Amino acid sequence: MDNTDPADAVSHGAAFALLGNETRVAILRELWETATEGPMPFSELRERVGMRDSGQFNYHLTKLTGTFIRKVDPEDDEEGEGGYVLRFAGIAVVGAILSGMYQQAGFDEPVPVDGECPRCGGALDLEYEDERANLSCRDCGNFTLQSNIPAGVFSQYDREATPEVFDRWMRAQVDQIAAGFCMLCQGKTTFTVLLGAHTGADWAEEDEALVEYECERCGATLYASVTEMLTRHPAIVSFYHDHGADVRDEPTWGLDWLLDEVAVVTEDPLTVSFDVTVDDETLRLTVDDQLTVVAEERLPAEQARA
Ligand SMILES: [Zn+2]
Ligand SMILES: [Zn+2]
Repeated sequence: MDNTDPADAVSHGAAFALLGNETRVAILRELWETATEGPMPFSELRERVGMRDSGQFNYHLTKLTGTFIRKVDPEDDEEGEGGYVLRFAGIAVVGAILSGMYQQAGFDEPVPVDGECPRCGGALDLEYEDERANLSCRDCGNFTLQSNIPAGVFSQYDREATPEVFDRWMRAQVDQIAAGFCMLCQGKTTFTVLLGAHTGADWAEEDEALVEYECERCGATLYASVTEMLTRHPAIVSFYHDHGADVRDEPTWGLDWLLDEVAVVTEDPLTVSFDVTVDDETLRLTVDDQLTVVAEERLPAEQARA
């Protein structure tokens, strides 16, 4: 296997320059739409794209072939015709166009959120401007979820559903990073739990435990709370289940314990603990710097608060 890092292997300027033409984008979209029909013969593709001049069309097609499109010879085609198919890079380009990645987007008015601020009980709303979503509390200003998000994520939903859609999308991003893939470049991510003083996060409290994710390829660094990274840990899922609830059904703003303080148990090696309370019972989890649960205890909520 060739282990060359793709970031070094190709000229991206050259690859993107190939797409700077409407006909070429139209070719990629036609191949996307007919992907299940097998390789698309030259003349059929030309007709679908609506270009009369065969020489001109061939010029554009040749430019895309290799990087975004693959030519299939008749002997390699079940139908015996041969033609053109999208390469993975071509699929990714059309996918990004469909996701609204290159579209400017925003909402005219904030969308009210079903639920209340976990800090103050106030009203929450979702604003979306310049492809950036911001779900926050109008009253206390102490609760905010924000992220860049492509327009296509919202475009298939009713307006009232967008806060819940935003929350699910954010969790999917977190899951991707937790699984070890950078959400920007798909590079390998590693993480560790650190105290704020030992991170580059200048907004963090010195003794605040944070999970620091770093991409080994592009260097992107991302911080998450210990609690949000463990929302779906089996210990928490089963604790909710024992109380007749499903933690996966709760939006982020419905889990007030996500915001509770994470206590430092030992500094070296670092272990931290936090409480999850449902009804009258508290689950106290202690985790190490790799988010492995090292101790687990259930106690009456009253005793936990004491
Ligand atoms: Zn609030
Ligand atoms: Zn990366």
